Amino acid sequence: RERASTSPDVPVVTISPDGAEPGTPGVPITYAELDDRTEVMAAALTRAGVTKGDRAAVMLANGPSFVHSWIGMAKAGVVEVPLHTASRGDGLRHALGLTGASLAVVDERALQRIGDVAHDLPSLRTLVVCGDPDDLPGRVGGADVVSMSDFVHGVRPGPAVDVADTDPSVVLFTSGTTGPSKGVVLSHRANTRLAWSVGQGAGFQRSEVLFTTFPLFHVAARYVSTLAAMLVEGRVVIRERFSASRFWEECAEEGVTAVHYLGSLLTMLLKQPARSVDSGHGVRVGYGAGAPKPVAEAFTERFGVPLHELYGMTETGAVTMNRAGAYRLGSCGTALEDCEVAVVGADDEALPAGEVGEIVTRPSVPHIMIEQYEGMPEATVDAFRNLWFHTGDRGWLDADGFLHFVGRQKDAIRRRGENVSAFEVEVVLEDHPSVAGSAVVGVPDEISGEEILAYLELREGAVLDVASVLDHCQTRLPHFAVPRYVAAVASLPRNTSQRVQKHLLDVSATADGV
Ligand code: ATP
Ligand code: MG
Repeated sequence: RERASTSPDVPVVTISPDGAEPGTPGVPITYAELDDRTEVMAAALTRAGVTKGDRAAVMLANGPSFVHSWIGMAKAGVVEVPLHTASRGDGLRHALGLTGASLAVVDERALQRIGDVAHDLPSLRTLVVCGDPDDLPGRVGGADVVSMSDFVHGVRPGPAVDVADTDPSVVLFTSGTTGPSKGVVLSHRANTRLAWSVGQGAGFQRSEVLFTTFPLFHVAARYVSTLAAMLVEGRVVIRERFSASRFWEECAEEGVTAVHYLGSLLTMLLKQPARSVDSGHGVRVGYGAGAPKPVAEAFTERFGVPLHELYGMTETGAVTMNRAGAYRLGSCGTALEDCEVAVVGADDEALPAGEVGEIVTRPSVPHIMIEQYEGMPEATVDAFRNLWFHTGDRGWLDADGFLHFVGRQKDAIRRRGENVSAFEVEVVLEDHPSVAGSAVVGVPDEISGEEILAYLELREGAVLDVASVLDHCQTRLPHFAVPRYVAAVASLPRNTSQRVQKHLLDVSATADGV
């Protein structure tokens, strides 16, 4: 609304059409179109009786309809509930029931899935179906079904709804890496603050072109990419899928200047054979999370792109980040200006520099989650102890205040009295030429307390050579951190953040003792 200088004809988002096959080139949405379409969406919501403070779900693949629904709901003051596109059955019923959404914007696939559970959802009154569906049922459960074109037909944009930046904007679900995902309520201010601080941290310039392949129902694609681009009057290129072999060509084709990464994506790019497009692609900066030092070093050296590693999560937004003037490779940077970060021991006492403990953070402005986790009051109380948000992550601060991520607390393995970080072992394993991905877990052992089991996802065509993997670990890890068991698996269970969901691994499966 307050964009003063950008021409309305400039594209703000480039995204493939709704329902397009993966790989379909994106089409641009200009600022003017975005403004018009979202005014219409906001007015249609109001006409349908979905008003400020009400909740409305979106269950769509990346596409223009998702962007229009998101911003349209924000303009109407409606609290958006973006749902995972793979959600179904009990999980879907739970998310919709908990959040009490009265309307959902869906595609045909999501309509079917919601149809399977809709009879248990008394608050759901309207289902709006995108695309050009032929045969829509009139009702599903207790909800009326309408097409998006009928939903917006004939509406006139009304007066702007008075939405404060501290009002709730979204119920966003965490990635579900450590268990069932948690619903987090965030304000508009929290989202803008996240988008602005990462942009500042990565040194975004006006008209920056960002690239993301994350889904729009996750914090990363929404605020760390799309909103961050909008705030610098830039453009975001949103692709449905990440392609390691086409990545740099895609960046060059779209004039991309900044890429948003997760560690696993960098590893996949590094495993591609060297090509001429490795340089001259036009990307000048990368920003994101989960790049261990050796990966970051190799990446910058080969592709000429410096990486601004940050640390954060759905509940808090970005907490620390590497910025110009405060940059230390291998760390997650220093606390952002409106954040406090500390490392505490088992009794919540602050630990001195260099000691590993739980990372905690304290919000100094309302940028942290503003309500309890949806339907999980105990988890909320557990996380907010002594006025600090307990992240469940382990790390340490160095003498200059740079945060170093060690791993998830749940991932600490206690072997013969030594603490082993599963994350550190995984970094070493994934550096092995045959290994595409790994998951390291502790298994109970009478003598050691716990033993280390490594699941390995092998690169295409590779065979498991236990001796070579072991040898690789022995030269790089302390002896007590070398896995006792290894097992090759066809694929590891991963969530949208490409993180392995260890709670879904069957640790009783047979592994090769070594
Ligand atoms: P859930 O809370 O449902 O288990 P999740 O924690 O994976 O899922 P997100 O909020 O998407 O969901 O991710 C936040 C987590 O990502 C952090 O708690 C931390 O474990 C991890 N993370 C964040 N920054 C980094 C980083 N720089 N390096 C490694 N891991 C990171
Ligand atoms: Mg989490």
